[in-house]
Amino acid sequence: MPIDPDTLRPATRLVHGGTTRSAHGETAEALFLTSGFVYDSAEQAEATFAGTVQHYQYSRFGNPTVAMLESRLAGIEGAEACRATATGMAAVHSALLSHLKTGDRVVASRALFGSCHWIVSTLLPRYGIQAEFVDGGDLDQWRAALAAPAQLVLLETPSNPMLEIVDLPAVAALAHKAGAIVVVDNVFATPLLQQPLKMGADVVVYSCTKHIDGQGRVLGGAVLGRRKWIEETLQPFIRNTGPAISPFNAWLLLKGIETLALRVDAACRGAEKVADFLASRGEVTRVWYPTRADHPQHALAMTQMTAGGTVVTFELAGGKDAAFAAMNAFGLIAVSNNLGDSKSLATHPATTTHMRIGEAERAKLGITDGVIRLSVGLEDPRDLIDDLAQALDAIGAKAARPRAAE
Ligand SMILES: *Cc1c(COP(=O)(O)O)cnc(C)c1O
Repeated sequence: MPIDPDTLRPATRLVHGGTTRSAHGETAEALFLTSGFVYDSAEQAEATFAGTVQHYQYSRFGNPTVAMLESRLAGIEGAEACRATATGMAAVHSALLSHLKTGDRVVASRALFGSCHWIVSTLLPRYGIQAEFVDGGDLDQWRAALAAPAQLVLLETPSNPMLEIVDLPAVAALAHKAGAIVVVDNVFATPLLQQPLKMGADVVVYSCTKHIDGQGRVLGGAVLGRRKWIEETLQPFIRNTGPAISPFNAWLLLKGIETLALRVDAACRGAEKVADFLASRGEVTRVWYPTRADHPQHALAMTQMTAGGTVVTFELAGGKDAAFAAMNAFGLIAVSNNLGDSKSLATHPATTTHMRIGEAERAKLGITDGVIRLSVGLEDPRDLIDDLAQALDAIGAKAARPRAAE
């Protein structure tokens, strides 16, 4: 008996969503590693190009393995449609450039992933698209910026690396009144912990490179939204500019998604323990983690997210020297700028991911020289805590200071 996919629960959709079987009846999703497709006849080719017959044409704009990934992602997100791309940045770039034209205006939260910040601040103005940044956590700034007409709002919540939360329903209401669509980069929350479309967003973008692969193997991206916008606005842009994902990478991501809930759940539980441990240490001046009561927007985070996520950000007394000493003392935790991996990874944002935005912009975002971003993986949290403890012990003598009163 055929099953209605809309009745399936999330864990089931992660494993079965979007699966179509070939004539061979394979169990695992088939990898259609092919650039083109053949037609039964010249007439079928003509009808395919005329749009009267459904047939794959060319993997730049359609491939059966990629289509399974898109369908599975749409089902998890609760979106009408999805297009997968080669990278997360291809997803963001396509979502923005397919929608915008010269003379338009974009309002964005300041706390964006570095390359997203570059697109808004540097690339869009080259095409005569005006860009304005606001502090994402400050509704008054959104209100002021969206008092004038705008065509697109771009934001990230929780943000990288300071885990700032943007009030999604409130900003979406302001954006829609100004005439803008709302594009949310939902990488840090993953589709399992936060569903922006249900809170007023129009488009959600992902870097599938992060938790969706989750094992540090391939790059990928996705754009999700209403069918009409995806097919009429995004698809022509993607079809003709070519940010297509390899079917091989799409196939790996399909297999990654099957364990997404298990992995994200385990990493969140580990991150919570790690955050609490870090907060107990004298060398640490501050910890940012959304489910902790001392997160500056804890109450708002809990209305939007079902768990805190896999990233913990903390600040060491002793600035860059202490941060570098701690990172160099890690044994298990690796120094790497990636995140959402099964392996725990630590980054010093001020000198790597956020080096290019400059000191003044870093100060506005609260990224001090003592800040470390820790992407918690799937190791036993006790081993991560042991590694953090020995690294903090090693710098403790140099950097220990009394903890600020809370
Ligand atoms: C990694 C990341 C991106 C870019 O994704 P790529 O797959 O590296 O191109 C965009 N936004 C956020 C929040 C990210 O973490």
